[in-house]
Amino acid sequence: MQLFKDIFDLFFPEVCLACKNQLYSNESSICTFCRHDFPQTDFTNVSNNQLEKLFHGRSPIKEATALFYFHKKGKVQELIHQLKYRNHQEIGEVLGYWLGEDLKSSNRFKSIDYIVPVPIHPKKRRKRGYNQLTKFGEALAQTLSKTLIENELQKIDSTETQTRKGKMERWLNVQNHFEIKDLSFFENCHVLLIDDVITTGATLEACSNQFLKCKNATVSIAVIAYTE
Ligand SMILES: [Zn+2]
Repeated sequence: MQLFKDIFDLFFPEVCLACKNQLYSNESSICTFCRHDFPQTDFTNVSNNQLEKLFHGRSPIKEATALFYFHKKGKVQELIHQLKYRNHQEIGEVLGYWLGEDLKSSNRFKSIDYIVPVPIHPKKRRKRGYNQLTKFGEALAQTLSKTLIENELQKIDSTETQTRKGKMERWLNVQNHFEIKDLSFFENCHVLLIDDVITTGATLEACSNQFLKCKNATVSIAVIAYTE
């Protein structure tokens, strides 16, 4: 079998999903150079970091962190594109383990009970075939020995007008997109919300505010990449 694999690799060499250079046989998905080249935020051990400040006055987030900074046309953008639109779910797995080890190094995320991914609309999920956060969440949950809960927080249809929306209308529209099936499920729980890229924070704010309807629940956030 090894011979077949070697021949196969000769014609279809496996390439790094971030830089497209050919991988060495001891590498998988992402080359060693890229792993060291990604712009890491180092937010995990820093309280009141930039990401947490983004939510000040919007939603009371306990702790927040991001693995990487997101730059337009950068390697992280390419990686997330491959994860979301090219069916490279293994990227989610690699990054889930990576973030898991990162969170383990900090006391700030010790009291997490559940990990909950930002849901995608069922129609979108059917079209894509997967939620890009599932493998990521599973690897993260496994590393932290926590439970991943995918079906309690749901994306719902909202009445959307086709007219051009202003900033406020768009924000309001996002705020009404999510709901929790059973509010009692998360009573007295510390939930870690996860997402791929955070830009304005409107989606995570909307999700977080749903959890705050649950009695005595607290919310923290962990994302793959943060746009400055
Ligand atoms: Zn690379």
